[in-house]
Amino acid sequence: MSADGAGVPLPEKQQCRDVVEHIYEYVDGEVTPQALAAVREHLLSCPPCLEQYDVQVALKELVRRCCQDRAPDSLRVRILAQVTAAQATGARAAETRVTQVTRVRLRDE
Ligand SMILES: [Zn+2]
Repeated sequence: MSADGAGVPLPEKQQCRDVVEHIYEYVDGEVTPQALAAVREHLLSCPPCLEQYDVQVALKELVRRCCQDRAPDSLRVRILAQVTAAQATGARAAETRVTQVTRVRLRDE
């Protein structure tokens, strides 16, 4: 039951903002062990933020693979802009995108 959460004015939202704001630093390992533990704990209990984390990890890996050690700022900025746009419009945009990709794939077959 959610007896614990009754009457709580959604502190999670602020926490989500904090986590998402620092998630890139978290992925890069540029946070203190204390912050790292806090973020990790939040991710485990917050699927939307975990999704953001997965995206960041995937992007980091992608940039690393594509560009080896030299990640051009232009690409990084472009990717970040896309992620930011996705965040701004919410998961709905991401879903639309997935649907489009799926449609393209279906057409292709
Ligand atoms: Zn969250």
